[in-house]
Parts: sequence; structure tokens; C-alpha cells
Amino acid sequence: QWIFLGGQFVKKEDAVISVYDHGFLYGDGVFEGIRVYTGNVFRLDAHLKRLYESAQSIMLQIPYTKEEMTQLIVETIRKNQLESAYIRVVVSRGKGNLGLDPSSCLNPNVIIIAEELAMFPKEFYEHGIKIASVASRRNRPDVLSPQVKSLNYLNNILVKLEANQAGVQEALMLNDQGYVTEGSADNIFIVKNGIVYTPPVYLGALEGITRNAILDVARAQGFEVRETPFTRHDVYVADEVFLTGTAVEVIAVVEVDGRIIKDGKPGNVTNQLLEEFRRIVTTDGVA
Ligand code: PLP
Repeated sequence: QWIFLGGQFVKKEDAVISVYDHGFLYGDGVFEGIRVYTGNVFRLDAHLKRLYESAQSIMLQIPYTKEEMTQLIVETIRKNQLESAYIRVVVSRGKGNLGLDPSSCLNPNVIIIAEELAMFPKEFYEHGIKIASVASRRNRPDVLSPQVKSLNYLNNILVKLEANQAGVQEALMLNDQGYVTEGSADNIFIVKNGIVYTPPVYLGALEGITRNAILDVARAQGFEVRETPFTRHDVYVADEVFLTGTAVEVIAVVEVDGRIIKDGKPGNVTNQLLEEFRRIVTTDGVA
């Protein structure tokens, strides 16, 4: 396996970074997770837009243009001879002195990893997963914007640990007003009376690229779609619940905080959207 690191391709065993890299020391950097489906890099432009906007927000200069980055990603996939893959792009602040000030970090570190990924076992996709709401809250948008996909994911890790402790597969995160925002690394949707709902991102959710793809798919399939705030109660009494994300793709949720959703099976709307999603992922993007 080949990894792009320090301006060249190195073997997986040799892909190591300095202990002085501020990405390692302080979580100072940004990242993206991107999916390749039978040779198509799904919505790569949207992922690069988010990566460069995250970098702009934390005053991090990515040393490649988006066109160069596209080439590097495509090259990483080719070199590893992957048809379908999960790509991780990391841009860290790079090597510097100890101390938070990034001024001593002169060369941001760009890393591209491509590998096969199976997020959850097949049964979970067939039968749905259980989620639980957690005590950890989403960052306030006025502090560190939830739109910045930074290397500082400790909050999301705490959320995942809470889900593990509760014996469920994923967490349901709320904002500080108690509105539902998202999972640890995925967006949430509910379906009620045939209408598809997802929280507006201003409540404190990352504007997921899979989320936006599902919104497109749902509209194209003739569903009414609403981005409106909702609470845990609305999730408990929904007809269907599902999560979306680059890693999980689309996965049905059949139990939330111990409440069985409807008949406890993945719903028809979820399945219909998933089917259409599977169709577009091989064409919508960079081949
Ligand atoms: N929410 C968070 C906090 C995430 O890290 C992710 C993963 O990228 C998502 C949602 C889902 O976004 P996307 O569909 O772009 O992967």
C-alpha cells in the first residue's frame, strides 16, 4: 500500500510523521473522508471545497491547488490499484516548535491514504442499528464552527465512547438547546407521514456531502424535504430514522434511546433513497 506523504509516495510501513507535527501535538489541521465507487470519486469537488474552506477558516495554507490535489488523489487511487475505496486526506500544520503558536510551522503536511473500508457489518445495513442520545454537546457554532472538519475530533470521540458505553452503534448528538444535530460522524434524517426531515446545519451539524446527496435524491424522487429543527421526541415518534455519511453511507436506525422505531425494521423510504443513492455514487463525481 502506497501513501502520499511529504510530497511523495511512500510505503505504508514508512509513512510516519514527526512528533513535532502540530497535527499530532494539538490536533491542528483539517481532513476529509472521501469515497471511491467503481472508479468514481464521489462528489470530489464538494469534498475539496469543504477541505479548502476548513483550512481557510483556521488560517492554514494548503500547498497545492484544488486541481493538483485532485490529481494527487486520483494518483493515490491508481497507485494502490483500488476500484472502490475510502480516501483520507489530512492537512496538518506541520512540524514546529513546542507551543501552540503555529508561526514556527512552515510546511503544512499533506497526507493521502486510500484503502478499503467496511464501516459496519452487513447485518447492520440489512436490519438497522441502534443509537442513543449522549450528554456531550456539539461545539457552539460561534466558537469553532461545526463546518470546520478539523483534526480536533475529541468531542466526537467522546460521543462515540458514550455510544459504546450505552451498547449501541452510534450516538445522537444534541446542541446546547437540546435540538437534534447529528451523529459522531454522520447526519440524521427522519421520515414522518412521507416527508423527509433533517436538521438545518445552523443548529450545529456538519453540512455532510452524503446528506446533501440524499436531499438531492429525495427531491428528485418527488419527496417533500424539510430542513427544520426537531427534538428527540420527534425522532422517537418518527416513521423512519436513518443516518448518512461518507463512512456509513446510508444506514437505517431501528431503535433510539430504547424506543423501537415503528415496526423495528428499516423503512421503505430509507430503502428507496438508499437504492437511488447506490445508483448515483458511481457516476456523480470525478472518474
Ligand atoms: N458529521 C460529522 C461530524 C462528520 O465528521 C461527518 C463525516 O464527514 C459527517 C457528519 C458526514 O458528512 P459527509 O457525508 O460529508 O461524510
